[in-house]
Amino acid sequence: MYDLPETRAFVLERLHAFGCATIHEQVGRAGIVAVIEGNLSGNTNTLAIRADMDALPIDEQTGRSYRSRTAGQMHACGHDGHTAILLATGCYLAQHRHFPGRVVLVFQPAEEGGFGARDMLDAGFIETFGISEIYGLHNLPGRPIGTYATRVGPLLAASDRFEITITGHGTHAATPHLGVDPIAAGATLVSRINTIVSRQINPLSHCVISLGSFNAGKTHNVIPKTAKLTGTVRALSTTTQTDIRAALQRVCDGVASETSAEIDLDYRLGHPVTENQQCSVDTLRHAAERASLKIDEAPLHMFSEDFSFMLQARPGAFIFTGNGASAPLHDPAYDFNDAAIIAGVKAWLALAYFREI
Ligand SMILES: [Zn+2]
Ligand SMILES: [Zn+2]
Repeated sequence: MYDLPETRAFVLERLHAFGCATIHEQVGRAGIVAVIEGNLSGNTNTLAIRADMDALPIDEQTGRSYRSRTAGQMHACGHDGHTAILLATGCYLAQHRHFPGRVVLVFQPAEEGGFGARDMLDAGFIETFGISEIYGLHNLPGRPIGTYATRVGPLLAASDRFEITITGHGTHAATPHLGVDPIAAGATLVSRINTIVSRQINPLSHCVISLGSFNAGKTHNVIPKTAKLTGTVRALSTTTQTDIRAALQRVCDGVASETSAEIDLDYRLGHPVTENQQCSVDTLRHAAERASLKIDEAPLHMFSEDFSFMLQARPGAFIFTGNGASAPLHDPAYDFNDAAIIAGVKAWLALAYFREI
């Protein structure tokens, strides 16, 4: 996440090599920001483009010659590709500066669950570099190479996680009436939680609650004292996210009072909804059109992105570019298609040269 010394060294070496005059080597815990001034005078608009840099704790199984050489570390989300796209974009812009305002290249660590975007925001990079608008990109397996998609408004879900601890009273399995069974309480919870979306949330909203673990007990003839459930909530609006959180608390309180178990809900907010601004999507579409690129209307997705924090700070948009017929993101067989680098660079260059300010 934050620990990417070789990637950081490579990015910095490239930025120096292609003549970026302003490079901030440490923004937050491990971020890098570089500035390229355009030479079309008359405005001070600052366009920021962000790439994420981090890998995932996965053992790569692509068998490729260029596969990860570090056990348990793999670029299974293609962030190495995003970094390459931004470096190539910066390299071209540094040599062809006939664009308005300036372009700020933002290299972010810890997108994968580490709040790297928030860390850089907390370090004040938006204010330090006077950023007017910010854009980000992600490759998308299953979408053809060289194609793009985005949409106005919500694009990716908010993603929260929760942990429910059920404390009962352990006893011999032959005498359940002398204890409080956390497994029975947990089983009731599972079925009640699975009715929240279908019975308590507006059917027109997009959301899902998934339980990822349910752990309790060690053997067949002892009722344990505790049980633990973990899960995630995904929603495409803050209202729905808030409603689900409240419903989860109600369900926990209800089952606690029915079963006499103590039930503690530890709900942790994650990434907010990734929400594109109308004006930024328009800017992107117009710029793309002038460069003869076509941007499709993207469907909604239930995965999340911490670029959402940056979109809360400044207007901007997030866009997909196709990765072809690859394995899905976060899969040990995933392989970033290098042809997507060209597509990504084209989109960013169109934005830098053709945005109307
Ligand atoms: Zn990812
Ligand atoms: Zn990713």
